[in-house]
Amino acid sequence: MKHLIIGAGAAGISAARTILKEKNDDSVVIVSQDAEVHSRCMLHKVIAGEKNAQDINFINDGLLESERVQWISGKTVTRLDVVPALKTVYAGEEAGAAGVAVASGDRVLIATGANSLVPPVGYFRTAKNAFGLRNLSDARAIAERAKTAKKIAVVGAGLVGLDAAYGILQASTEATSTEATSTGAGGREISVVEMGASVLAVNLDSRAAASYRRLFEEKGVRFYLRRKVVNTQGSPDEINALKLDDGTRLACDMVILAAGVSPATGFLEGSGIELSERRAVNVDDCLATNVPGVYAAGDVTGLSGVWPNAQKQGEVAGYNMTGTKLAYDDRFALKNTVNFFNLLSVSLGEINPQNGDEVMIREDRNNYRKLILRDGVPVGIILQGEIGGSGFWQYLIKNKVRIDNLGKSPWKVSYADFYGVENNGEYKWVV
Ligand SMILES: Cc1cc2nc3c(=O)[nH]c(=O)nc-3n(C[C@H](O)[C@H](O)[C@H](O)COP(=O)(O)OP(=O)(O)OC[C@H]3O[C@@H](n4cnc5c(N)ncnc54)[C@H](O)[C@@H]3O)c2cc1C
Repeated sequence: MKHLIIGAGAAGISAARTILKEKNDDSVVIVSQDAEVHSRCMLHKVIAGEKNAQDINFINDGLLESERVQWISGKTVTRLDVVPALKTVYAGEEAGAAGVAVASGDRVLIATGANSLVPPVGYFRTAKNAFGLRNLSDARAIAERAKTAKKIAVVGAGLVGLDAAYGILQASTEATSTEATSTGAGGREISVVEMGASVLAVNLDSRAAASYRRLFEEKGVRFYLRRKVVNTQGSPDEINALKLDDGTRLACDMVILAAGVSPATGFLEGSGIELSERRAVNVDDCLATNVPGVYAAGDVTGLSGVWPNAQKQGEVAGYNMTGTKLAYDDRFALKNTVNFFNLLSVSLGEINPQNGDEVMIREDRNNYRKLILRDGVPVGIILQGEIGGSGFWQYLIKNKVRIDNLGKSPWKVSYADFYGVENNGEYKWVV
């Protein structure tokens, strides 16, 4: 059987690996817009000039060189035809256009991830000095433009926005390590505009996020929180200022748009594949779409927006595509890791408590830990600074293990509390 995978990201590659492992006689054709396979989580390192494409390639086992794999790289799929038994992808001038057949297969995996969302504000959609950050090509373009930019505005203070600011700061540090600058950003001004009240709101609570905001501020970055961009100034080609909702005019010669993503499903127009209201591909528990033989995995499903989950979904889809029915039940989407300026944080499960939850906080100068207990069961934890034990907490949260009946402080609970001894003397996990 021939499997057609659209997308060479976390989900697509993990599916390919699973298919090859499961079925010795099957082959895989991967079509990707990416000309080079890369980890999006490492794009800030490319902006910083610390790593190149090869360094952030996450395939290290020669998968794409396998004789059972054909990789069609640098090709944007604009149409998927699922009517005939053999499903075919096409590349054309624009989404939905007839285009030229590129590849076909008996089963298809849609693993196209997401695109940067460009808000319909002012000249964001046309300006050549406005950049999203999703692909290696974006990181390269940002790095290039940032060499000469003096005033950089980042729209959105989530992980992607701060990754961009961090990469530029790190590049500036390299470039100016011998000269003192007033801003700490290589003489550049970096401003971050964020609608919410805190940075990294998806990843951390406001206390943990504030530590990162302070670190960025110490490097000269200015934050405009609870502010919205309502317009731009300049020309359709070149933005020279952002207008904020409180009337502030923020001069800039480069803009980075990090205000969210939308699933990369434009090419599915007219294919018959069912999409959700948010334009993500609708899938069942086995990651099958409404069209028999067509599956979807990763960010394109809207089930999650993090790398490990995309990988897991790719694996599950791979099993189902090769005939082993497997449900994607690992919807433990909320594992986030943040690392800026060597300050590490991990958040697991819920970040903010609900009414009636017990919240336990432990902190000192370098560390912050917040645990949320619901009816004695941990539902979320944030570890900042010292992040040891995160695997243990992940287990407890994911498996809803009650810990308030152990007669000790939650901070003293350890694996040892859940082991019993079998008759034969062996230790046994007894949760
Ligand atoms: C800057 C940044 C930083 C991030 N940091 C983290 C982090 O620290 N931790 C974390 O867990 N997650 C992080 N993420 C999220 C993580 O990268 C994604 O969740 C993950 O990449 C999703 O994998 P995917 O395979 O679904 O999609 P992607 O990795 O986006 O791969 C999609 C693939 O589809 C291809 N494609 C798209 N459209 C087409 C088309 N029409 N035709 C052909 N091919 C197409 C693309 O070229 C690509 O190969 C970050 C994301 C970004 C952008």
